[in-house]
Amino acid sequence: MSFSRVYLEITNVCNLRCGFCPGTERQPQFLSPADFETLLQKLRGYTDYLCFHLMGEPLLHPALPALLSLAERYEYYVNITSNGVLLPQAEDALLSSRNLHRFCISLQAWEGNGCSWDADSYVNSCAVFARKAAARGVLVYFRLWNGAAPGNETLLQKLRGYTDYLCFHLMGEPLLHPALSTLLSLADRYRYYVNITSNGVLLPQAEDVLLSFRNLHRFNISLQAWEGNGCSWDANSYVNTCAAFARRAAARGVLVYFRLWNGAAQGNEMLLAALHGAFPDPWEPAQRNSVMAQNIFLEQAARFDWPDASGAARGGSFCRALRDHLGVLCDGTVVPCCLDSEGALALGNLLRQDLEEILSSPRARAIYDGFSRRTPAEALCRRCGYAERFG
Ligand code: SF4
Repeated sequence: MSFSRVYLEITNVCNLRCGFCPGTERQPQFLSPADFETLLQKLRGYTDYLCFHLMGEPLLHPALPALLSLAERYEYYVNITSNGVLLPQAEDALLSSRNLHRFCISLQAWEGNGCSWDADSYVNSCAVFARKAAARGVLVYFRLWNGAAPGNETLLQKLRGYTDYLCFHLMGEPLLHPALSTLLSLADRYRYYVNITSNGVLLPQAEDVLLSFRNLHRFNISLQAWEGNGCSWDANSYVNTCAAFARRAAARGVLVYFRLWNGAAQGNEMLLAALHGAFPDPWEPAQRNSVMAQNIFLEQAARFDWPDASGAARGGSFCRALRDHLGVLCDGTVVPCCLDSEGALALGNLLRQDLEEILSSPRARAIYDGFSRRTPAEALCRRCGYAERFG
């Protein structure tokens, strides 16, 4: 059995307290180089790629140079996700590693901590590292996984040269931003393509602004917002308003995706009927994506919520955990996925056991076989929104 990547958490301690991060209640811990080496030996043959995180800030680890060196000796590629704050201190160690493959900088940490430090020096410091790393062949990703949060304008300007596509969302409604036009204009000036995900309710007010920009590349309309708000407004006029925008946008080359990411939620029939009315040429709703008109698509998928042991049982029956990935917490605990932030699905401890032994443990086999049979073995998995993505 092999995995495309293994999440090997080198610490669960973080230097920041981002509002969007669930954190962990586990004992604070740094994986020792000796234990790390043991884990590398145990994982050899199962993967070529190690992600140095699950929770925690990897650059906080006091023995990061030793860990990178060990990973190199055992011929692993290393992926790191970091808030980037500690890059000045960690830069030399990172750049001297020949096997650093990918480095993701979570810029949303700035907004997640109340924009409480200087954005210019933060982004510049990350950009300095990014240039050096990229020159050595490292793939550097700047992340803004917070939509149109306040202050992102500054970050947009500083990101030029690192990506061509900006997604103006993660949480929140982008069309609510009072300076949307300015943001689009800035993005245009810096030659970004922009993808937007919106519930579409504010399209009548935002339409002219949106369509006046050449760099609007893709527009996702989350129709599930209707059901998510108790089907409390008229479905036909909602869909028709969105469809009018979609037709205008599609004629300008924008890709428009109508989303129904709520599975088979009550009320979807009304939305689908309204969509058929708005796009009358024959099309059939497919399992995932349907072409309703040129450049206009319908995307159907399940909702995605983090697993919640105290939540209600959900309908997901399959997950790729233990098929193409697994996680290792910083105390050696092996977990099946990168969402198990508390180690609730502990399968064993790689410091004391071999991976084969762990993967063939009754619990691991039950999880794997349960997903094969589409009957999740774990209560947490039956309460995981992510699993619903796989049907
Ligand atoms: S179903 Fe959810 S909690 Fe269970 S292994 Fe998959 S991602 Fe993790």
